[in-house]
Amino acid sequence: IIELGQPEHSAITTCAYCGVGCGFKAEMKGNTVVRMVPWKDGKANEGHSCVKGRFAWGYATHKDRITKPMIRAKITDPWREVSWDEAIGYAAGEFKRIQAKHGKDSVGGITSSRCTNEEVYLVQKLIRAAFGTNNVDTCARVCHSPTGYGMGQTFGTSAGTQTFKSVEQADVIMVIGANPTDAHPVFASRMKRRLREGAKLIVVDPRRIELVETPHVRADHHLALKPGTNVAMITALAHVVATEGLVNEAYVAERCDMKSFNEWRAFVSRPENSPEAFEAVTGVPADEVRKAARLFASGPNSAIYYGLGVTEHAQGSTMVIGIANLAMACGMVGREGVGVNPLRGQNNVQGSCDMGSFPHELPGYRHIGDTTVRAQFEAHWGVEISPEPGLRIPNMFEAALGGSFLGLYCQGEDIVQSDPNTQHVSAALSAMECIVVQDIFLNETAKYAHVLLPGSSFLEKDGTFTNAERRISRVRQVMPPLAGLGDWEVTMKLANALGYPMHYNHPEEIMQEIAELTPSFQGVSFEKIDRLGSVQWPCNEETEDAGTATMHVDHFVRGKGKFFNTQYIPSDEKITRRFPLLLTTGRILSQYNVGAQTRRTPNNQWHDEDLLEIHPHDALDRGVKAGDWVGISSRAGQTVMRAQISERMQPGVVYTTFHFPESGANVITTDSSDWATNCPEYKVTAVQVVPVTQP
Ligand code: SF4
Repeated sequence: IIELGQPEHSAITTCAYCGVGCGFKAEMKGNTVVRMVPWKDGKANEGHSCVKGRFAWGYATHKDRITKPMIRAKITDPWREVSWDEAIGYAAGEFKRIQAKHGKDSVGGITSSRCTNEEVYLVQKLIRAAFGTNNVDTCARVCHSPTGYGMGQTFGTSAGTQTFKSVEQADVIMVIGANPTDAHPVFASRMKRRLREGAKLIVVDPRRIELVETPHVRADHHLALKPGTNVAMITALAHVVATEGLVNEAYVAERCDMKSFNEWRAFVSRPENSPEAFEAVTGVPADEVRKAARLFASGPNSAIYYGLGVTEHAQGSTMVIGIANLAMACGMVGREGVGVNPLRGQNNVQGSCDMGSFPHELPGYRHIGDTTVRAQFEAHWGVEISPEPGLRIPNMFEAALGGSFLGLYCQGEDIVQSDPNTQHVSAALSAMECIVVQDIFLNETAKYAHVLLPGSSFLEKDGTFTNAERRISRVRQVMPPLAGLGDWEVTMKLANALGYPMHYNHPEEIMQEIAELTPSFQGVSFEKIDRLGSVQWPCNEETEDAGTATMHVDHFVRGKGKFFNTQYIPSDEKITRRFPLLLTTGRILSQYNVGAQTRRTPNNQWHDEDLLEIHPHDALDRGVKAGDWVGISSRAGQTVMRAQISERMQPGVVYTTFHFPESGANVITTDSSDWATNCPEYKVTAVQVVPVTQP
């Protein structure tokens, strides 16, 4: 304020970082943001904020912003600044050329979880209607796609069952594979308030995360399992519930599919699924698992919150199913204080999934093979839509290497830095003939691009984001797009250049179309959100005006909740003499994902490099001291970073973040992935760590 002057006007908008979706008042002087003040009426944050939302918005006007479209024929050529019309005309020409030679399915696109619902909807429409293919995917592929599969199978829809406020009614909180104090700080504070009031806490995590022991909060049980053994753990917990008379029989009889329940009960009750049988697998004493299971089942209100430590595994979908099984068996879905709650990483990853970004689903999680649903979109869009699911991101890479996928439109997603096995991603991108990157910075993926379309930051957008509690909030434009066009206008221009007419005057009209075509969004409008502050989907004539706070109250979306057996299968990533440690990855409070935004803010002063956390014993064995440079190698690749000796780690397990391209954590992660969704197994990589001299 001292530097920038007193604010003259303000607008309420939504944080562009994590899936908590905090509301902020952007205070402005002219077109310059003076400060971001947490919005006291924001339902997700109630006036609170974290170090990212409050202080890390300056990237929006950083000198590195791309403000001019650029093209180049080959990636070895220098970039050439051109007009919007020339860049879009060039991109459209290239896509048409590729499709004419190799067929419609030789191109595709990736939507962005940082963009608004309206922008994401438009990109998937562009791909389906203008490109004429279902080759569309989203970054949720590499984070919460197993949530989509697992919750879809068991409950019937892919979204958190509760509001954040619901945690205030929880008596037992189970946190699995999530580190909310770093990744979802405002919700973590709410959770800690409830814990200080006396709620019990079970943490299931290989690391001793901050929640395990922090001022005035101490986990009652920390099940410090070995990476890759989640499914063994959830099955062992279920075994205790099923064999010690802890099933909520009345709930299950009324709400669940009994055939699947009986099969599940017989399965988990087997001796080989007991905590004792899995003790050597998980490394967690059976007695501790039994106590945790009893505590969870006793409630009366027990809630599960989970993160990418659940989904980013070869058995990620199985684990989500296991969590849903446990919650249903104990009667912990369908009221305040309970539920199954995926903590979403990016600000609009929920929305990007809702908006039809998956290759097999149209907006609202309706399968592309459903003739009635497809007909509705075909009539509205005036095109024929293929009933065949398109390619997922990893399949796009495979197809590129095989010569059949040659053109990509990638909006607001740095796949080179964020996807696993960087070498594989780079090789696939190098094999493509036209890559169009739309981003606010020249990211790592842009190194492989032929067309660069400047993106716009959240301060330049009008639209909506959907947070992890299905809450749809307004994003309001407080400054004009630096490059002259908003992301939605760019997509529209590209569609028109491709020969598919697309005309909207404002993002509000896009939301009207979404509401018209998506039953769970039927009652959503800018007018209503402006009036109520936010709404939660499902929001239609069957719900309250503000939508649905708690899902599955009387019945599950799919009717009866369905159980599935969760057979534990060990990860392919096993320790060997060559790779004797297991690496797992995550985030840190001050930085965000690939760091493109936070690295360009004062937040960088708190954490300006990725570090390898290593247990003191493992460090001693290798002669590694705090701050030493270490080389980390896996079967995929190798990198170097500095070591941080940490009691948070268990012996045999190391940990790092992926915020900095220089350290390239994903050079060492492999392309092992979830059996159902291809979500990469970021959380388990067998590695060796050795001291090296400073690079
Ligand atoms: Fe933004 Fe998440 Fe922090 Fe809230 S908790 S201010 S949404 S980063």
